[in-house]
Amino acid sequence: MESSRQEGAQGRQFDPNKLAGVLFDMDGTLTLPHQIDFTKMKERLGIPPHEDVLRTLKERYGDSPDEYARAMQIIDEVEAEGAAELALQPYCRELLAALRRSRPDVKTALVTRNSRKQAAHFASMLECNGASFDAIISRDECETLSMPVKPSPAVCFHLANQWGVSPEDCMFVGDFRDDMLCGKGAGAWTCLIENHKNQEFRELADLSVDSLAALARHLQLPLAAPSSSVHVDMGEGIGGGGVAVDVCVSSGSMKAVAG
Ligand SMILES: [Mg+2]
Repeated sequence: MESSRQEGAQGRQFDPNKLAGVLFDMDGTLTLPHQIDFTKMKERLGIPPHEDVLRTLKERYGDSPDEYARAMQIIDEVEAEGAAELALQPYCRELLAALRRSRPDVKTALVTRNSRKQAAHFASMLECNGASFDAIISRDECETLSMPVKPSPAVCFHLANQWGVSPEDCMFVGDFRDDMLCGKGAGAWTCLIENHKNQEFRELADLSVDSLAALARHLQLPLAAPSSSVHVDMGEGIGGGGVAVDVCVSSGSMKAVAG
């Protein structure tokens, strides 16, 4: 059974009518939690469990570009392993599509510390039913823009400025401390997508929900019937190579979204 709270301990009352932009974290927020094996990533990099990966690598290899590149390659490999089996949160596509349909005035962004490649791969998975983002900010965009990654609020200020809206009228939706701090630092509303391991971050959230369907209710968005993505192996092709497509199924329609 879904539960949600209107306000966090330090929360600001959320007003959906004022909403001008929504920034979504990716891992554990729009995807199911724990798809990327951060324990394995840190073990391969020799980084203690409590340390921030990107910050530690910057500090450790700031003067050694070759070492830094080798470490980033390990991150790419572990992220790619997770992406191969990526599973969306229930109602992920429906929520994003409903935002587009019901609130075309609201801008949306994917904000992730993943690579540009993984962020683009994820966005391509959503291309059913009109689900899409106005902006995608991965760690590579942050690097290009000389902008610190989460938990810095820089990305909120950057996007609000780009969209011509106030950061206080935006919401950051995430599942981790860094997401909440990023939003709070800019004065944005914060929404925690709860799982069994992150409830300690509730106190940083204006809104805590346990599903994207519950978030949609707070945003006053009518959701369409859920779609499902089915990975289909098309078997041997003419040239002998197997062909696989992801088929998006919703309300009786099917659409191949990836080859
Ligand atoms: Mg996350």
